[in-house]
Amino acid sequence: MINLEGKSALVTGSTSGIGLAIATGLADAGANVMLNGFGKLETIEMLRSNLEKTSGHKIRYSPADMRKPSEIKNMISAAQKEYGSVDILINNAGIQHVSPIEDFPTEKWDDILAINLSSAFHTTRHCIAGMKKSGWGRIINIASAHSLVASPYKSAYVAAKHGLVGLTKTVALECAQDGVTVNAISPGYVLTPLVEKQIPDTAKARGISEEAVKRDVLLAAQPTKKFVKVDQITQSTLFLCSDAAENITGINLSIDGGWTAQ
Ligand code: NAD
Repeated sequence: MINLEGKSALVTGSTSGIGLAIATGLADAGANVMLNGFGKLETIEMLRSNLEKTSGHKIRYSPADMRKPSEIKNMISAAQKEYGSVDILINNAGIQHVSPIEDFPTEKWDDILAINLSSAFHTTRHCIAGMKKSGWGRIINIASAHSLVASPYKSAYVAAKHGLVGLTKTVALECAQDGVTVNAISPGYVLTPLVEKQIPDTAKARGISEEAVKRDVLLAAQPTKKFVKVDQITQSTLFLCSDAAENITGINLSIDGGWTAQ
């Protein structure tokens, strides 16, 4: 069991799906956690207070919009003020849009690049000095199998996720001697709201049924024929935060049922 007592974590996009599972895992392992993301305020407050009760650690929430650098800066300052430091940074917030490139809305391109890629640049640059100073830090960027391979109609997402892995490797090298590791995790398909929302759009773009999208598009890519589970991503995140992983930096860990082995 990994012990993160005394550490503080920030997980972007943690009001749902993978981010919420990782935030819960970090809190249960002993860390204070700042949550972030959108949703109904009452629902988020319920998540926050339940996690605070069950974990016994300080759980806070920031509504910062990952498209806005000034809000990101304020979120990091608030976390540093509240906890004294941000030791673990999980860049997880992400959105998707599925459309042929000739119809791809410009504003969707801008939002996807801002949330899925640029927000990690902004959070990292505001957290890194504190991590270097304390001589310990963990940055984990939640990328995707789409950081390694492409699928049609996902131009912005694929471009952003490939970029996120480039950022991961660069920052890993920059702080390799400072006790700070920087890694990416690249899941295959996980049944979260992000994937459930894109099923109707993919069906429309390909002219097939929603059942056929699940069977012939999503799981067709995964040789195990199983969706990845959020707990599997959480456990790998906890391992990368452990001392056993202090020499693992700059990697892109695939959890994709063999998708990118093909
Ligand atoms: P999700 O839709 O369940 O959660 C996304 C989170 O990001 C939510 O908390 C949402 O509120 C937040 N968010 C969205 N826009 C935001 C913004 N502007 N500012 C702040 N927060 C914002 O999705 P998920 O499936 O849990 O995805 C999480 C991450 O995992 C994403 O980066 C996604 O690309 C990646 N991923 C998901 C899958 C999958 O199959 N679900 C596969 C590979 C990678």
